[in-house]
Amino acid sequence: MILIFALSIICVFLIMGTFCVFFDQAVLTRRETIYRVDTSEKKVALTFDDGPSPVWTPLILDELKKAGIKATFFMIGYHVNKYPDVARRVAEEGHEVASHGYAHSVMLYYTPAEIEQELKYTEYVIKKVTGVTTTLFRPPKAWLRKTIKAKIKSMGYDIILWSLNSKDWVRFNHHRVVNYLLKNVKNGDIILFHDSGHAFAREGGNRLQTVKAVSLLARKLKERGFQIVPVGELTGERKQWNTIPIKN
Ligand SMILES: [Zn+2]
Repeated sequence: MILIFALSIICVFLIMGTFCVFFDQAVLTRRETIYRVDTSEKKVALTFDDGPSPVWTPLILDELKKAGIKATFFMIGYHVNKYPDVARRVAEEGHEVASHGYAHSVMLYYTPAEIEQELKYTEYVIKKVTGVTTTLFRPPKAWLRKTIKAKIKSMGYDIILWSLNSKDWVRFNHHRVVNYLLKNVKNGDIILFHDSGHAFAREGGNRLQTVKAVSLLARKLKERGFQIVPVGELTGERKQWNTIPIKN
């Protein structure tokens, strides 16, 4: 009996795991969000979620600097408080700083008051540390209800999802990640990576394959004539509200 129960639990986990690896749940919540941009220009955006990380974000920043690329970082407020120097470096190097909420909580059942409180506090923390007033928000795991989306927009935020998911949290080899992205990339795509965390935690993951993928992808996209820009530039709404000088 116990064996059957244990096997059933393992099966459920395996099915859920396979589902998460091969299906992107964000396609279900794209309505009333920006997940890509219609454009005839060969432009795409690279985005990084869940950081800053003291280990992986600096390595990704080094790769972006070598490639001469500016990206968008959807930061967790708690990590900004914990690693202020890394968050500041992201802003100083001219990348776009955006909000991913304070604690990476799934916000599906939030009330409008709760979302307002968390977004305002995250905005305050990011502003205090980086000097940037955030105007882009990405919900953890992409889950949001319609009423909450309306509330977030009424606060002046654009809700940003993605059209191309690197699935880097699975820790595929970087060649595999880049081949998948290159096979599917189109003008106006918003590409999702992570600079912290793993499948079950917002911190502590190994992002080495992400670091390598960023470097390779940047080179390959350039060869194919793509320009990599921050999300706000792709949408034509980049707001230069960074109050500290940018180092190049
Ligand atoms: Zn996240």
